[in-house]
Amino acid sequence: MLRRNYDGESIRQVAALYQQQQQLQQQVDQYCEERDKVNQLIRQAKNKEERTQHIAQGKQWKDRIRQLTDQVEQLQMELESHALLVPNNTHPEVPEGDESKAKVIRIVGSPRTNSSKSMDGGDGSGPTTTGGTTFELKDHLTLAENLDMVNFEQAALVTGSKWYYLKNDGVWLEMALIQYAMEQAHLRGFSPVIAPDVVRTSIAYGCGFQPRKSEASQIYSVTTPSTINTSAPKLCLAGTAEIPLAGMFAQQLIKEEELPRKVVGLGHAFRAEAGHGSANERGLYRVHQFSKVELFTVTTPEQSRDMMEELRSLQEHMFTELGLCFRVLDMPTEELGASAYRKYDMEAWMPGKNDWGEISSTSNCTDYQTRRLDIRYLSNEFKENVGSKDVRVPWHIKEKWVHFCHTLNGTAMAVPRVIIALLETHQQPDGSILVPQVLRKWIPGQPSVLTK
Ligand code: AMP
Repeated sequence: MLRRNYDGESIRQVAALYQQQQQLQQQVDQYCEERDKVNQLIRQAKNKEERTQHIAQGKQWKDRIRQLTDQVEQLQMELESHALLVPNNTHPEVPEGDESKAKVIRIVGSPRTNSSKSMDGGDGSGPTTTGGTTFELKDHLTLAENLDMVNFEQAALVTGSKWYYLKNDGVWLEMALIQYAMEQAHLRGFSPVIAPDVVRTSIAYGCGFQPRKSEASQIYSVTTPSTINTSAPKLCLAGTAEIPLAGMFAQQLIKEEELPRKVVGLGHAFRAEAGHGSANERGLYRVHQFSKVELFTVTTPEQSRDMMEELRSLQEHMFTELGLCFRVLDMPTEELGASAYRKYDMEAWMPGKNDWGEISSTSNCTDYQTRRLDIRYLSNEFKENVGSKDVRVPWHIKEKWVHFCHTLNGTAMAVPRVIIALLETHQQPDGSILVPQVLRKWIPGQPSVLTK
């Protein structure tokens, strides 16, 4: 926790509460023994008077036990609320520190800047990033507004600032990016899913989006006629499809031979974050609702390391085919989400900011989410030892072959930010946009250029 710049208070609380709870539990156990002795005396009582006396004694023990048990339960709840704030372990090779300590693993393409020269790959396969321009590059908002792709003003009236209407070719671009990402993931064995955008907060907490102030303030909660003023499970809008996708496996016991499980889900991500309001986060960069295609996998502990590389290779493949200039970063300790053991971010070059902007994030969450959501697997050794494949055999027989799975998640397509990178990277002097070859088939008329 200290490496991640947490104050470590939760872990101290967990330790202190656990000790208190253990002491109380010992007392409960002692009182139970006393109660059992009295029960014995009640059974052996020689007359009614003796019996009544023992019954009264027994009642006293019962009352004390109930009181103490309530206290133990209260402590357990407190302990769990602190334990929820404890993050995952951290991979030993993760660089220590803040954002500035991110390690650049690889850069693909070269940034397009106003000072760069030549522009076209020249092979007719769509745009390339190798090269720059002799004209003044515009930012995505100017380009998108000129092409009538977005409208923020009317959305501000209808919902608020940082909400937007996507229109015309903006819609086709979004749909093309979604189709492309879903198809590419499917080609690599991911099963397609359309996930619910509303989830129980308990599932969000299980994924590690815990009630820490900074994270809780990102969550939109949902009330319905059946949840208002009741103790019914609270609902929230998913900040990422990772949550409903992880929830798909909650409370499941999976056979080892069925791992890894790989799904690719389309969802809308809702984030209440206000953002910094800086010029760098203009337009589509930081919005309250966006479409996102998410990769999610469940693996054995042995498979998770390779799976992280598999996710990264798929992402690199897609961003390369889209003609983006991007870099891959090994993120430092203070940038890891609570659930992440290790995280790779990818940042695309965005000429409008004249800087890199994050377009995807991939985390190996090891067994952090699976412990909280109860996602386990039955190892192959069970079949070898018990001679049965059936997961429904009694628990005491299979228990020692049941282990927690690992989970990983990665952004396949965070649509608005990829639109930013596409518009700004592939813009032409007249404000039109070259369409990457791989997207054309998903856009009506299969245009090679988007024009007004
Ligand atoms: P995260 O789940 O926070 O790692 O986000 C996944 C990806 O979604 C990021 O890599 C960004 O590309 C994108 N993203 C995150 N927050 C926003 C936002 N508020 N608006 C638009 N895109 C976002």
